[in-house]
Parts: sequence; structure tokens; C-alpha cells
Amino acid sequence: MTAMEAEFLAWLAERLGPSQRSPVGLRDDAAVLDVGGSEPLVITTDLITDGVHFRLDRDDPRQIGHKALAVNLSDVAAMAARPLCAFVSLLVPARRGLELAQELYEGLLPLAERFGVEVAGGDTNTWSGPLVVNVALIGQATERGPLRRDGAKPGDQLLVTGCFGGSLGGHHLDFVPRVTEALTLHRDFRLHAGVDCSDGLSLDVSRICAASGCGAVIETAEVPIRPAAVALAADASDGCSALEHALSDGEDFELILAVPPDDAARIVRHNSLEVPLTRIGEFVAEPGLWQLAGGERRRLIPCGYEHGIDR
Ligand SMILES: [Mg+2]
Repeated sequence: MTAMEAEFLAWLAERLGPSQRSPVGLRDDAAVLDVGGSEPLVITTDLITDGVHFRLDRDDPRQIGHKALAVNLSDVAAMAARPLCAFVSLLVPARRGLELAQELYEGLLPLAERFGVEVAGGDTNTWSGPLVVNVALIGQATERGPLRRDGAKPGDQLLVTGCFGGSLGGHHLDFVPRVTEALTLHRDFRLHAGVDCSDGLSLDVSRICAASGCGAVIETAEVPIRPAAVALAADASDGCSALEHALSDGEDFELILAVPPDDAARIVRHNSLEVPLTRIGEFVAEPGLWQLAGGERRRLIPCGYEHGIDR
């Protein structure tokens, strides 16, 4: 999220006022809509644009189609909800409209099938501008309810799936959203809060803290770092360490969870998921974000991805 997007969102939340229908308003990974009689629906939408979230001159259109759905699945996973159906809207450059639209779908549909998502509608337009893909995804919370970001408590352990940093090396196009992992963990354990990591580990942890009215300490030696981040740091053209990449690059699309200590210990000890789960710190009463390294606790400035793929 850029500074403009954050400012606009703050303005919009104020302008719209409190939501009558969604208890989380605009403040979570997805809207929660109680339709009566069954578990609430979980609804999210995400727009990806050529030159910002992918590059059509370099990336395979099938990967772009995959990403367009995957980023939405990641938000539904962050609510620990089951995805149901998608609405796909394409704004395609006219000169290769039909072929491009088909290729996008050839990347999107295998992922939809994998998670039982049906494409239920959408819209397609052509124009002279760059490719824009919008997906809206509808899911349903389980009987355990939606996993929100405002439930973290001091003493909760900070757990993450997978690893972080260097996503632009390719992970941002071909990642598998953590839908299965979120559903399994939410079913088998007590989870207090969760988000997916889209904008940067430190920034997304700080969002759980802000929503929950608490702080967090990240033990930096425990942060799982993606090999691509290590390679970026070795290249050193931007002077960032592998850890700095892991804390701030974003588009990791991993789960970040606040878990009560006994459940966290059991999760880490008996992890039966296909992805690693790591404890990287804990939530504390004092608001703010810290890093703990070599026994020393220092302020950590949350820092994240400003969308712009050309860097
Ligand atoms: Mg999210």
C-alpha cells in the first residue's frame, strides 16, 4: 500500500462512517458480511496493473492470471475462510485482446480448481492502455468464525508460515496462497489474530498491533529468510541486508498469526502442514514494534513495499 492509498483509505473510512453490515468495516483483509442463517461471507477484491504488480513485456500472462486470483485467495486465507467463487474483470490492450484474455484464464483456472473456486462472473473490456486485472473473491467463514486482525493479546506468540524477502525474484508471481494452512490451523488450534503478508513483514505485523491495541517484539535471528533475499543482499546494489529485505519487501503472501502460548508451542512442535511454521517473536502490552537481537531490544520502524515493480 502506498502512502496515497493509506491516506485515501483513511479518508474513505471516515467518509463512509461505521459499516452497518460488516463488523470489520474496511479494516481487515476482507469484508465480513452476515447474511443470516449461515456463517458470514468473506469478500475481497484486488486490482493488479501492468508496470505496477507485473510486467507484461517480461512475465508470462498465465502467471499474471495466477497472481490475480492468488492475491485474493491470500486475503481470504488471512480470514481463515473457505473460498467459493470469483468474479474476474479484465481491461486488456486491444492489439492482443482475445489471446491475452485466454492466456490469463489458463493461468487462473488451475489455481481456482485447486481451491474449489468457481468463476461466477466478471467483465471484459479492451482499450489502448495497459493490462489491468481485477478479481473479486467471495468466501465463507467456518463455524469457528472469521479470523480477524484485531484479536492479538500480550503474551501471544508471533508465528509465520514460509519465508520472507526477495519476492520480486519470482515468488510474487507463482506463490501458493495459504488457504489450506489457515483452515487447518483455525480448525485445530486457538488463533487470536491473523493477516497475510502483502506489504512487508514488519508493516503487516504492525497492522495486527495497531488493530489489536498492543505491540510486538520480532526476534530477528528467527525470521525465515527466502534464498532470493540472501542473493539480493549479496548483490548489495541497494545496500540492504537479507534481513532488511525479509522485514520489508512484501508480496510474500505468508500468514502472520497471533497465537496463545500453549497453542503456539503445540503448532510448532507438531506441524503437520506442508509448509514450515516458525515462531519469530511475541506480542506485548506496550504499543509499538521492536526487534530483539543479541539480547538487546530496539525500536523497529515498520517498513514495506511501495508498489512499483521497476526498482
Ligand atoms: Mg491482506
